[in-house]
Amino acid sequence: MTEENHQNIPFKAETRQLLQILIHSLYAEREVFLRELISNASDALTRLEFLMLTEKNILEPEAEPNIRIKLDKEKRTLTISDNGIGMSRTEIVDNLGTIAHSGVKQFLSAVQESNSSLPDIIGQFGVGFYSAFMVADHIDVHSHGFSPEHQAVLWQSDGNETYTLGDSDKANRGTDIILHLNDTADEFLEEQRIRTIIKKHSDFIPFPIFLNDGEEPVNRRTALWRQSPMSTEDKEYEDFYRQYTLDFYEPITHLHMVIDAPVQLYALLYLPEHPERQMFSPRQQEGLELYARKVLIQEYNVDLLPRAFRFLQGVVDSEDIPLNVSRETIQSSRVMRQIQKLLSGRLVSHLQGMAEKEPEKFKKVWQTYGNFIKEGVATDEDNHEQLQSLLSFRSLHHPDDFLQLSTYIAEMKEGQEKIYYLLGDDEHSIKNSPHLELIEADGFDVLFMTDDIDPFVLLRLKEFEGKPLVNIANEGRENQPDNDGEKKDEARETDQVNPLVDFIRDVLADKVIDVKVTTRLTRSPARLVDPEGSMTQEMQRVYEMLDREYERTGKILEINPGHPLMKKLSEQDRNDPLAHMIIRQVYEDCLLQEGLHPDPVSMIDRIQKIMEALMDK
Ligand code: ADP
Ligand code: MG
Repeated sequence: MTEENHQNIPFKAETRQLLQILIHSLYAEREVFLRELISNASDALTRLEFLMLTEKNILEPEAEPNIRIKLDKEKRTLTISDNGIGMSRTEIVDNLGTIAHSGVKQFLSAVQESNSSLPDIIGQFGVGFYSAFMVADHIDVHSHGFSPEHQAVLWQSDGNETYTLGDSDKANRGTDIILHLNDTADEFLEEQRIRTIIKKHSDFIPFPIFLNDGEEPVNRRTALWRQSPMSTEDKEYEDFYRQYTLDFYEPITHLHMVIDAPVQLYALLYLPEHPERQMFSPRQQEGLELYARKVLIQEYNVDLLPRAFRFLQGVVDSEDIPLNVSRETIQSSRVMRQIQKLLSGRLVSHLQGMAEKEPEKFKKVWQTYGNFIKEGVATDEDNHEQLQSLLSFRSLHHPDDFLQLSTYIAEMKEGQEKIYYLLGDDEHSIKNSPHLELIEADGFDVLFMTDDIDPFVLLRLKEFEGKPLVNIANEGRENQPDNDGEKKDEARETDQVNPLVDFIRDVLADKVIDVKVTTRLTRSPARLVDPEGSMTQEMQRVYEMLDREYERTGKILEINPGHPLMKKLSEQDRNDPLAHMIIRQVYEDCLLQEGLHPDPVSMIDRIQKIMEALMDK
């Protein structure tokens, strides 16, 4: 080792803080250190394979990628070696002197917040390389970069204040990490113990892991997604998911595809219990892992699935994808478009099948992910049609479930031609809406549209399987030209009613653009409707949500002359202040039912006056 190459360098403050925590932790499951070192070795091998696509000048290009673990009871060392990409001197300073691991900063702030529960959080995620200091007094890292021109480097530290750098005589490519185990870490000198840890945490690492001088890899290594679905057990799918994401929850479902034509494709997709990634997950971004001919070419591919499915986790692997490093080239290839189609098609039918066969499970999926799918219907130019088939809503006849549009159609009554819906702020106000009275006698079902995103969905969804979607708030409006040109309404013509309409029109002159009589209401005294040809309720809601200005057209009040309140009102003196108050109250009740009342509390004053007047009588 030459003098000038020998350096003693302090760790960065954050790293020191982390090391202090780890060295002093009595964490029972500190075995996870091995998972972290194996995962780094595997990353180094993956990165080398990727580099080989473009780089010619590589040391030992023929060497089979592998990970080797050696235990030495006499020297009390555990050595883990890989022949991956290795590190140059500057890389080792950058990577092992400062905190590279994205999860570590989160870890530190979690520790600060929770103090006492430290042992619970170490194992939930990787603290990366430094976790080895839970079991080692000091660590030597020998690393040789991928190029024959690189000079091997030796990094050494006891995990306290500093580390030293010097030259290493390592001649072959890759990294050897030598842990000098501390006196509480005897268990990690036992071959059987190490074998068990590898099976538990690193079974699906795609490179062979050899232990001591064993000829057989300890890990199963076969990429699970390349296995036949017929011969893969649920437990294997679960284990893979857990090792892949470190999620504490089991996935809701998985989809395993092995396809030969029109493209050759393996895919294993998981639907997590929660859309947010675990804070400590090794997978920190959206997207699927994409392999081309067994080489990982993209860690987070977001182009393969519609955006609406961005919460899915998993792996896609194809022999037909061009081995190329440019995302643009990969993305524009015909194979990718075929894969995209296959994936989203199968995923949608998988979820449809679930809705049919496992409705409870589907309900959970919809509660968690429905809004993503609605967003896709509203905004995804390429996939909205496919996503429509998953749309589900609560309805009058199915208030506790999510009804799919196809089921709605299957349950339609004789003579029913339309899919009816109501927009509202919440289910309660919809269930009490006077508009429902219009279809009550026919027994039609009505979809509840209560999510903020529903009006956006409706702008796109004008019909489904040939049936128009219709807002019942605007069905059966009176005094609009009927299809047959006839007027259905006799009551409107009668003398008794007209004076009442005039009366109400006068009282509400500044509130509504007109007052009309309807025979379609049964229980309610009145309802509000939009004048034909005005901006639809959906559009109005969209504009409001986007905070855009639009011209508010006034509403029409339709009254039910058969209602006792209306009958009595028609007998009142036109100058009776009580009658005026009641008319205003009826109008504001309607506003409230539509979710349009700007200030419901303001009604109290009037209601109290009405009560006083009643007691005077
Ligand atoms: P992370 O793996 O999340 O980046 P780690 O603390 O585990 O964080 O590792 C820090 C960095 O050290 C890695 O990103 C990598 O660049 C480098 N590194 C660690 N182990 C190896 C290895 N065996 N071969 C090459 N580089 C490594
Ligand atoms: Mg790591």
